[in-house]
Amino acid sequence: MKILQNKYFKNLTTFRIGGKIKYYAEVKGKKEIEEIVCFAKSNHLKVFIIGGGSDFLVSDKLYDGLVIKFTGTGVSISGDSITAEAGMSWDKLVEYSVKNNFQGIECLSGIPGTVGAAPIQNIGAYGQELKDTFESLNAFDITKENFVKFNKEDCGFGYRESIFKQKSHWQKYLITDITLRLHKNGKPTVNYESLNGRVKENPSLLDVRNAILAVRKERLEDPNIVGNAGSFFKNPIVDKNKKEQLEKDFPGIKIFPFGEKYKVFSGFLIENAGWKGKNLGSVGVSPKHALIIINKSGNAKASDVIKLSNKIVEDVDKMFGLRLEPEVQMINF
Ligand code: NAP
Repeated sequence: MKILQNKYFKNLTTFRIGGKIKYYAEVKGKKEIEEIVCFAKSNHLKVFIIGGGSDFLVSDKLYDGLVIKFTGTGVSISGDSITAEAGMSWDKLVEYSVKNNFQGIECLSGIPGTVGAAPIQNIGAYGQELKDTFESLNAFDITKENFVKFNKEDCGFGYRESIFKQKSHWQKYLITDITLRLHKNGKPTVNYESLNGRVKENPSLLDVRNAILAVRKERLEDPNIVGNAGSFFKNPIVDKNKKEQLEKDFPGIKIFPFGEKYKVFSGFLIENAGWKGKNLGSVGVSPKHALIIINKSGNAKASDVIKLSNKIVEDVDKMFGLRLEPEVQMINF
């Protein structure tokens, strides 16, 4: 295991933004995890764990601590369960499950990032969420320096949320593997309008996967082409009164039931506030999808993104009376 002192967050995140890192290490296996945590403790370093870097906006200042990337990529099947190591690419795991005829995560095709990052924000797309098939995960508890297991009920999953995003658990556990309980030979269900006409009747898992990969390619920004961190904002959740008022004032607004409340599509709000496809200096709002902020020049600073996102929040608030909150996690500000 090497400890490097010449790494930058901008080379480790899909936004391609972020400053220098004091110490950086890639680890595989239990022994290396224990060793690197011991290094952090003996040097009084704060620790940040990174996967695919696909859900972060990192500031440009020096990160005065240790960044750890877990790189194990093993995967195995036992009965209806698949266990994958946290360093595996999420989409490789979806591909593997579809190839082996396991239903349950095919709608999560094409999501950037690693397996280990998936539970942190309970990734979701096209009506599937990780929590629907999640069974358990193993992690290293950095504070207590031991390996622990989290079952589904321990993870506090919510809409793009989990206990690992809360202060009590944030950056305190290094996830090493996750286990999903899938449905061997299960049939896919497709219920998102944006997939209508893209999948034939009685589609196979592979048909659904291919349709989703194609629609994502058309509608979303590929971080290999232009820096971005997926949806920049969450979809606001509103009560019945607010929903009815919004529908009256803004015909055509996209609102969906969400438990006893309602979920408003932020992309609609941002587009109608006039920001879709607009640039501000070196950053912009994607012309394909209003929820995505892009590092247009490739050299944007974190402060450029913050400036743009503040303007969007203000304009959406003025027009709709809704305060957008970031979905991306803000690091080292
Ligand atoms: P879309 O299918 O055009 O849908 C737009 C919005 O409406 C989404 O926010 C979606 O909510 C909601 N929606 C649509 N049909 C729905 C239904 N039948 N039931 C409940 N909610 C419905 O979305 P898109 O923007 O092209 O994205 C496609 C999928 O990829 C979505 O599920 C989206 O969440 C996911 N995605 C995730 C990220 C990320 O960074 N996390 C980025 C882009 C897209 P949901 O968001 O709750 O699905």
